[in-house]
Amino acid sequence: MERRDFLKKTGVAAAAVASTSVAAPAVWAKGKTFSWKMVTTWPPNLPVLQTGAERFAKRVEEASGGRIKIQVFAGGELVPALGTFDAVADGTVEAGSGASYYWAGKVPAAQWFSAVPFGFNAQGINAWFYSGGGLKLWEEVYAPFNVIPRPQGNTGVQMGGWFRKEMNTIEDYKGLKMRIPGLGGKVVAKAGGTVILKAGAEIFTNLERGVIDATEWVGPLHDLRMGFYKAAKYYYYPGWHEPGTCLEVIFNKKAYESLPKDLQAILDAVAMETNMWSLSEFDARNGEALEELITKHKVKLVRFPEPLLEDLRKLAKETLEEEASKDAMSKKVHEAFKSFKKRVGTWGSVSENAYYNVIADKYSLKG
Ligand code: CA
Repeated sequence: MERRDFLKKTGVAAAAVASTSVAAPAVWAKGKTFSWKMVTTWPPNLPVLQTGAERFAKRVEEASGGRIKIQVFAGGELVPALGTFDAVADGTVEAGSGASYYWAGKVPAAQWFSAVPFGFNAQGINAWFYSGGGLKLWEEVYAPFNVIPRPQGNTGVQMGGWFRKEMNTIEDYKGLKMRIPGLGGKVVAKAGGTVILKAGAEIFTNLERGVIDATEWVGPLHDLRMGFYKAAKYYYYPGWHEPGTCLEVIFNKKAYESLPKDLQAILDAVAMETNMWSLSEFDARNGEALEELITKHKVKLVRFPEPLLEDLRKLAKETLEEEASKDAMSKKVHEAFKSFKKRVGTWGSVSENAYYNVIADKYSLKG
């Protein structure tokens, strides 16, 4: 095909490309299709998390008119779930989906971009990413690994977890065996608890047999599916340890940069769209599941006492300072996080927080 015919057929204005020679490669790339693979950290069919990654792929294909096709593999199907970051970094696959705290062992500063105890809620972390420099910083943290991150979902505030005994004061954490990963687990350990990490499939049995006294998971939607209400009596809130966990989509830098600009823009836009969809799904479906837990399964819903939360908050602050002092990048991210949180927190206290307090009575569980 002659170049001129090709341009005519693909509907590209010849004048626009003739004006500059550097525009030509992008024009030729426009006719190309890309077949990508995406691996995730989630089990097959896990609602909103795995299905969210699949939705992302489907929407990218729709928005690009089929120019990018992304085949999605759940955790373990192509590479081990926790091998996702490495598989994207070394180019085994073009994309991955998970949460940044899974990479804390390799990239300590990554922890600040998923869940920080007593840190941002979903609205706050999105403000930090999109309008407060957070995403730029996250890109900087992943850059040495040739990985590009984008926020791709948010669980909203998680639940505090399922406990076989009542939690009245910070002393109740002494000797408590709890399944709680990440920074939250470090806080529980500081309070005198023993953190026991179990694979998802083993948690229920361990809780039922008393091998662990407590576990956190996600929120009502996912917790209901795990059947924890059959093994522990008390369902505590709020999830101080994961107040707005951000989920990520990551791209191999070379693969991302080999795409024409419009396809890069589609990936970015669909990631942002999926971020919004995910939080909406969590809010809507958690509400429904919570109702079922309370009315059908007679779950005892308990709020952590205020003084206990205050004590956990102090321990969380110490934990974060310790983690931040371990390397220069963590320190940089932690300082940026704190300074944005202060600004957003002041505004939040006179906007969302004040408003929630006004309407709290209407939605109070006490009736
Ligand atoms: Ca969790």
